[in-house]
Amino acid sequence: MLKLENIVKKYRTSAVETLAVNGLSITINQGEFVAIMGASGCGKSTLLNIIGMLDNADSGSYFLDGKDVSSLKANERTDVRKNTIGFVFQNFNLIDELTVGENVELPLQYLNIPKSERKQKVDRVLEKMGIAHRKNHYPSQLSGGQQQRVAVARAVVTEPKLVLADEPTGNLDSHFGNEVLDILKGLNAAGTTIVMVTHSSNDAKVAQRIIELRDGKLLTERVEAVNQL
Ligand code: ADP
Ligand code: ADP
Repeated sequence: MLKLENIVKKYRTSAVETLAVNGLSITINQGEFVAIMGASGCGKSTLLNIIGMLDNADSGSYFLDGKDVSSLKANERTDVRKNTIGFVFQNFNLIDELTVGENVELPLQYLNIPKSERKQKVDRVLEKMGIAHRKNHYPSQLSGGQQQRVAVARAVVTEPKLVLADEPTGNLDSHFGNEVLDILKGLNAAGTTIVMVTHSSNDAKVAQRIIELRDGKLLTERVEAVNQL
C-alpha cells in the first residue's frame, strides 16, 4: 500500500534545527492495521502527516498505492490525497456550523459526486456508524464519542483505501474510545489499511503491527502475537 524510503524531515526555527524524522524507511501492506507509538516529540505526527501528504519530506522517496508521490505537484498531491486517504484526528475537527450530515457530505462535494449519490453515501455511512438519528444535529449537540463517530464517517464516506488516525481516542473516555477502536477494527476487517498514532498500549492492541519511534527513527517493530491467531 505504501513504502517510505529514507525519509528525512527537519524543522528550522531561528537558530534551532530539529530532525523530526531521521532517515526512516517503512513498508505497509494493503489491509494492514499498524500502530505508531513512541514518546512525545519522537516524530509520530510528522510521520503521519508525511504519509497523509499533508506535509512534504525534505528527502527520501514515497510510493503510495503503486505511485511515486514524492515529486508530485501540489494539485496532483491534493488529488491523490482526496481519492486515497481519510483522516481522523484527536479533536474530531468537525465544522461546528454544519450539521452531522453536512460534515460527512463535505469530502464527497470536494470530489464532485452528484447530489443524489452523496445523499445515499452519507445515509449509508451514518447508518453504519450508528449515528443516522443524529444527521440533522450539530456537533455541539453530541457527546465526544458521537462526534468521533461522525469524524470517522466523514473520513470513510469516500471509501478511501487508507485511513490515518492521530490519537483517535485521545479525547474520549475508555467506553467511547473502545467504540471508536471497534469501528476502526471493522473498517480494517473490510479491507481498509489503517495507520494509527497512539500513546496507549491498550489501543495499540487492535493493530497487527506496532512501529515504535525514537528520535525520528525506527526503534522496534513488533507483531502483536494475540492478533496473529
Ligand atoms: P510526536 O507526534 O511524536 O509528538 P512530532 O512529530 O509532533 O512528534 O514532533 C517531532 C519533533 O519535531 C519535535 O521535536 C517537535 O518539537 C518538532 N516539531 C514538530 N512540528 C514542528 C514545527 N511545525 N516547527 C518546529 N518544530 C516542530
Ligand atoms: P446514540 O445517540 O448514538 O444512541 P447513545 O445515546 O447510546 O448514543 O449514547 C451513548 C452513551 O453516551 C450513553 O450512555 C449516553 O448517556 C451518553 N451520551 C449521549 N449524549 C451525550 C452527551 N451529549 N454528553 C455526554 N454523554 C452523552
